[in-house]
Amino acid sequence: MLKARIMPREIGPEHSSAEWNYHPDLPLKNASIFQWPPSPAFLARWLAQNWLTLSERVIMVIASIGLWLLVYPPLEAAQSLSFGWIAQVWLVTFGVTFAVAGGLHWFFYMRKAQGLRLKFDKRGPAKGNRLWTFSDQVHDNMFWTLGPGVGFLTAYQVLILWALANGWAPVITFAENPVWFCLAMILLPIWSAFHFYWVHRFLHVPALYNHVHVLHHRNVNVGPWSGMSMHPVEQLLYHSTLLIHFVVPLHPIHLVFAMVYNGPGAAMTHTGYEDLLIKDKRRVALGTFYHQLHHRYYECNYGNQEMPWDRWFGTFHDGSAEATAETRDRKKKMFG
Ligand SMILES: [Zn+2]
Ligand SMILES: [Zn+2]
Repeated sequence: MLKARIMPREIGPEHSSAEWNYHPDLPLKNASIFQWPPSPAFLARWLAQNWLTLSERVIMVIASIGLWLLVYPPLEAAQSLSFGWIAQVWLVTFGVTFAVAGGLHWFFYMRKAQGLRLKFDKRGPAKGNRLWTFSDQVHDNMFWTLGPGVGFLTAYQVLILWALANGWAPVITFAENPVWFCLAMILLPIWSAFHFYWVHRFLHVPALYNHVHVLHHRNVNVGPWSGMSMHPVEQLLYHSTLLIHFVVPLHPIHLVFAMVYNGPGAAMTHTGYEDLLIKDKRRVALGTFYHQLHHRYYECNYGNQEMPWDRWFGTFHDGSAEATAETRDRKKKMFG
């Protein structure tokens, strides 16, 4: 059983509005780990919450170690490009993505096991609208996730494993570098958040937005399959976070962790629900209101809560009506 990371909070009428079925306490607080002046107590709490409990990140690391040891091809096999091990990497990536996104979709949207509790948007997935490929939001999202999503995520892993196996990218072992091995795990999500912010801001340049990023943004109301539902060009840019392996000495387990964190992890953060409740306790953190606001209002909250960029560059939406007005103004200036 997972440990409750966030103490269950009473949910009252102040947590819903005309716009939202549920929202957390507003305005959103500053959850960035880069606070000025630095707050050691906040940082210690962040470290403990994310890494000293059975958090989503710790579960992902455990899963990554298991996947690497049990179902990935050995690194030596990757010395030359051959169909067998490449197909194996694709199959593992496909399987993990399908299990996480499909499992969440089944639980929340087919079984409706949690009803509308902690669901941000009242609406369910859309159907019968030509906006979507196959006129069905879920089928559309599955198509873009399992096709180009899994495809690009596989391609990057193949490229990196091939390079690691041939010594073209630096590799470490746990035995020789246990401290860096662990530290790198903690730093990888921070790197990904940094990378995501800049790629994402770039995708909001009107020309790119209109041709590429709009595909992801058709999902105003998101579900687990929306997380990795992106245009191939966006897949290429978004998953390039894995290329850190060419610069920083890491282990293939870090690669598997990055795959899980950026791929199926995106399905978790787009579930449309804030947390998974087990016996009325918040057990697994899923979506963030922060990114849900991005999907509703577009030109705000490009990054994620742990990074300070949105606050520094004035694009932070804290959930208030004033922030919505500011965001609409910004959108008008950008798109005319
Ligand atoms: Zn999104
Ligand atoms: Zn966006």
